[in-house]
Amino acid sequence: MAAEPPVAVVTGANRGIGHEVVRQLADHGLTVVLGSRDPDKGRRAAARLDPGGHRVRAMQLDVCDDRSVTAMADRVRDELGRADVLVNNAAILYDTWARARSADLDEVRRALETNLFGAWRVAQALLPLLRRSPHPRIVNVSSGAGALHAMGGGTPAYSVSKASLNALTRLLAGELRPDGVLVNAVCPGWVATDMGGGGGRPVREGAAGVVWAALLPDDGPTGGFFRDGTALSW
Ligand code: NAP
Repeated sequence: MAAEPPVAVVTGANRGIGHEVVRQLADHGLTVVLGSRDPDKGRRAAARLDPGGHRVRAMQLDVCDDRSVTAMADRVRDELGRADVLVNNAAILYDTWARARSADLDEVRRALETNLFGAWRVAQALLPLLRRSPHPRIVNVSSGAGALHAMGGGTPAYSVSKASLNALTRLLAGELRPDGVLVNAVCPGWVATDMGGGGGRPVREGAAGVVWAALLPDDGPTGGFFRDGTALSW
């Protein structure tokens, strides 16, 4: 009997970079859980990629909702029996209109709830399965906007949330190193999506750097920050 393919979970995957990451991981032979907070959008997105429903499976997933996250992790365990890769992609609030000196702190809190706590919550929920994987990987989709060395004002909610996600990446990488879980942050570059707007590069290119980190060999890096497979400064 053929071995079961590895299983990846991608959050916020009904559109944009996450959707393309699902396509590319499925093309690499993984079974991919397409997480979407709206189940209908998720089903439609999965059907676009895999009409037969063999390689891509839509699951309802709101990263801000404990019950939704727990239910997804239970379904992955019961229906697929394993989780090998987690791509924390879901994010909101690229607040180009705001400044730190006057930012609406409720808006900042909302960004942290999705972009930091959402990723953290999903990682915690899937860790029992990831720890049992022979090649576990966590990819936190971050942004150059979260790099402290280049931070000089603007997009305060988004930038603080991505800098925090980078810190979480370092913490998880350090704590999970003994379990062989490689944890990295990846900036996809400026990508033409609903969030990125027009003018950015194609989603195919932005997603490729995320997929690179999801499929790292066992001697690959952990606790790093990358764009297109090249290390970035924090
Ligand atoms: P996007 O087109 O706005 O898509 C965001 C996705 O996240 C959507 O599927 C959205 O679902 C989902 N999402 C939002 N809140 C969620 C929640 N609470 N639970 C589950 N899913 C949720 O964004 P994108 O450009 O593809 O960005 C993907 C990632 O790349 C993000 O982490 C972003 O910060 C990062 N990034 C993007 C760029 C860029 O230029 N585009 C640059 C640097 C970094 P709904 O459809 O339900 O809203």
